[in-house]
Parts: sequence; structure tokens; C-alpha cells
Amino acid sequence: MTEDFSADITAQAADARAAFDSGVSRPISWRVERLKAVQQMLTERGDEFAAALQQDLGKHPSEAWLTEIGFVTAEITHTLKNLQRWLAPERASVPVSLQPANARIIREPLGVVLIIAPWNYPVQLLLAPMVGALAAGNTVVVKPSELAPATSAAMQRWIPQYLDGAVFVVQGGVEETTTLLGERFDHIFYTGNGTVGRIVMRAAAENLTPVTLELGGKSPVYVDDSADLPATAMRLAWGKFLNAGQTCVAPDYVLASRTVVAELARLLPEAIGRLYGTNPRSSKEYGRIVNDKHFQRLTGLLDAADVVTGGEHDAASRYLAPTVVRADSGSALMQEEIFGPVLPLVEIDGTDAAIKFINRRDKPLALYVFTARAKTKAKFAEQTSSGALCFGIPAAHLLVPGLPFGGVGASGMGGYHGRFSIETFSHRKAVLDKPLRPDTMRLVYPPFSALKNLI
Ligand code: NAD
Repeated sequence: MTEDFSADITAQAADARAAFDSGVSRPISWRVERLKAVQQMLTERGDEFAAALQQDLGKHPSEAWLTEIGFVTAEITHTLKNLQRWLAPERASVPVSLQPANARIIREPLGVVLIIAPWNYPVQLLLAPMVGALAAGNTVVVKPSELAPATSAAMQRWIPQYLDGAVFVVQGGVEETTTLLGERFDHIFYTGNGTVGRIVMRAAAENLTPVTLELGGKSPVYVDDSADLPATAMRLAWGKFLNAGQTCVAPDYVLASRTVVAELARLLPEAIGRLYGTNPRSSKEYGRIVNDKHFQRLTGLLDAADVVTGGEHDAASRYLAPTVVRADSGSALMQEEIFGPVLPLVEIDGTDAAIKFINRRDKPLALYVFTARAKTKAKFAEQTSSGALCFGIPAAHLLVPGLPFGGVGASGMGGYHGRFSIETFSHRKAVLDKPLRPDTMRLVYPPFSALKNLI
């Protein structure tokens, strides 16, 4: 952005508006071409995005592929395969009193969509909603996170080249985003923390703009004594320490009985060793904390912690070892989303107590249960509320294209992925078409005295 960034931002929003108003984005053919252009960008520039992710987060290229670049590619493939069907008008039945008539629902684009992305999966969380917004026929303004500067710069470099006239990039931090939120959009899609989520929603209210808020919070895990504990430990270590724990759906803490906590305290260090070796610091597979502020916050949380394994850290490289601690519900680690590679094990006395513990807190983005008991699964499904509920695996629900992704309550509102993105980024327009003759409506025209004879 230049010094006069606000004029630039206004110009970007105006260009996106003019592009939408021209009608160019409405034909399905335009949408398909844009999705293919995103795919091409990821094929031709994928290595540059992966390098940017390595620079911003120390992300291994294979992890970048699995969770970011390949993820978006799969989302596009799934969308291209189904788009025609998702956009087909839906028939609605017409009551006898209104027949003959034809009723249908058509999905129309909303207009200009603003997407504000966070730093932790800066490719996936910018491009996946953008794919949905384009597929629904909108033009888009994207705002990458300033906290992942290399990725933000790559977006600024490549998006205008591949998606000219369809997607407009605004870079910057709080000041620029505040200016951007002063513009009028037809939908705002925000991913990040709840404090900024409230700011976004307040700004959106000025123009009665609908919002999708993809927020975070603490995603709990419950493990009972019927679970295969060595396998559970592996899955937990994988889901927790991916991206150095900076994942919105990472297991935040584990609730389990005293004996299961003792077993996990033994098995988790082994699992970490299998994933990252005896010295994770030298593992290319293990990421780094995004910035000094988050590094200080996380190491501060460890000050009074009862460390089971890990805890080693190095400020210069922002390395924090995969760490497991024992904690109780009053500890600092249990107050806010950890968003880093620290996993507290908290003792709890049985399933009912675990459900109570979870229900007393904000509704989580994801809830993970490890049990072999069908009854326990049913109990969690019926008695808890969360964006997602997964048995036996953390975080992988994102990889199922037929599932909506989003939170509930404090973890967010609205959802996306696949056909749910089409729902989010379109208006379901009700269309009724009734021939003027025969004039069956004459039965309900005043004077209503004639009606008396009929009812
Ligand atoms: P962040 O700091 O990158 O902020 C997200 C976006 O908000 C950025 O583009 C930033 O520029 C903008 N922003 C920051 N302050 C602002 C302000 N005052 N006014 C307007 N815009 C502002 O990311 P973050 O919030 O630290 O992200 C981490 C949080 O996001 C965690 O809570 C995590 O759980 C959550 N998250 C949720 C999802 C999801 O899909 N539900 C995904 C990833 C992260």
C-alpha cells in the first residue's frame, strides 16, 4: 500500500464492485474459469507459496501441501465436479390454493465478498473461502494476515496475475483493515479471534452486511479407559503438534481419569518421539511459533506448569518443543485457547463430569472423543454442542469435503467448504411464476362476502 492507503483501499473495493455490477461473474463458465485459474496458480506457483509458508511458520513443504496448497486444490476439484448440480434451481411445491403455478429457488451471487484471513494457515484460510465466493458468482476482496508477511506478499504478487478483475488484494494490518471495513460489502467472511470478530460484526452492522465468523477457542478432548491408548496418543500428538499447535481445531486440552492421564503421560512422549525424533528442534517436520509476542505468551504459560515432557525453548528461533503438562482447571493454561504446542492433561472423574466440564465453557469449534463405547459416543452427540464432533481423530473433519466447517456460539457463526460455501456466498431467491389466466385468485379478491360461502 502507498502512504495514502485509504484511497487505494477504496479504489480496490470500487473495482470489485464495478466488476460485479458489470455482470461478468454471473455465468457459470466465468466461475469455472476462475476456479481453474486458482488451480493453475497453485500448480505453477505452489513452490513459492510453500517457501513463503516455510519463511512465515517454518512449515515443512509436505505439511504445506497436505494442509494448505493440496487442501485448496482438492476443494477446487470437488467444487468443479459438483458446481452445476449445486447451482441448479430447486423446485418447491405449490399449495393447491395457488395452482396452477411454478415455484423454485435460484441461487444468486451476493455481490462483493470481503475475506479477512489469519496467519496460521494463511494460504488455506484465504483461498478456500475465496474459491467458494467465486464459485457462487461473486467478486472478492481478500485481506491476508500481516502476521504472515511472506505469504501475504505472495498473494499480492500472484492473485492479480491469475485472477485479474475477479479478486482484489488489500495488504495491511489493523489500520488498513479498519479502513477496509468502512467500505460496503455484501458479505464479510472473517477468520481469526473473537475480539476482532466482534469488531468485524459491528462494522458489518452499519451496512446490514451478513457475516461468517470462523473463530477459535479451546477444543477439548475426552479419552476414556476403553480407548486404544497407544493409538490415541499418536493421533493426539499428530493433531496437536501439526503447525506447532497453531491450528484452530488443534486439541487444546485432554480430559481423562487419573489412570488414563498416567498412561497418556507415558505414551505421549513416545508418540512425539516417533513423529519428531528425540530432538524435535532439529526436525524439519516441526514448525516454529509465528512471532515473538506469541512466543512470550506461550513460554509465560509454562512458568508454573507441571511439565511431563518438552518445555525446552529458544527465543531466537521461536522454537518451543512439543510439550505435555499436567494441569487442573484453575491453571493459567486452562483459561484461554493455547494456540501453541502445549497439551495439558486434566484429570476428570468419568464421562458425565467431562460433559459438564465442557458444557460449562464456551461452545468449542471442535470436540474430540476417544472411546470404544457406542453409548459414550451417543452421549456426547446428544448432550454437547460444538462446531464439529469427531471420534477417534482430531482435525481431520476438515478433509471431508461433504462436511460443513464452522463454529457455534463463541467459536463462530456460519460455515463453508464444498456446497456449504455455495450456501454461504449466495442468496436463495424465491421465484414464483403464476399464469394470469385462469384467474384462480378471483376467489380471494374482495369483497370478502363472497368468500364466506366458501369457508
Ligand atoms: P490474525 O492476528 O492474523 O488476525 C486475523 C485477521 O484479523 C488479520 O487479517 C488481521 O489483519 C485482522 N485484524 C487484526 N486486528 C484487527 C482489528 N483490530 N480490526 C480489524 N481487523 C483486524 O489472526 P488471529 O486472530 O491471531 O488468529 C488466531 C485465532 O483465529 C485463533 O483464535 C484461532 O483459533 C482462530 N482461527 C479460527 C479458524 C477457523 O477456521 N475457525 C481458523 C484459524 C484460526
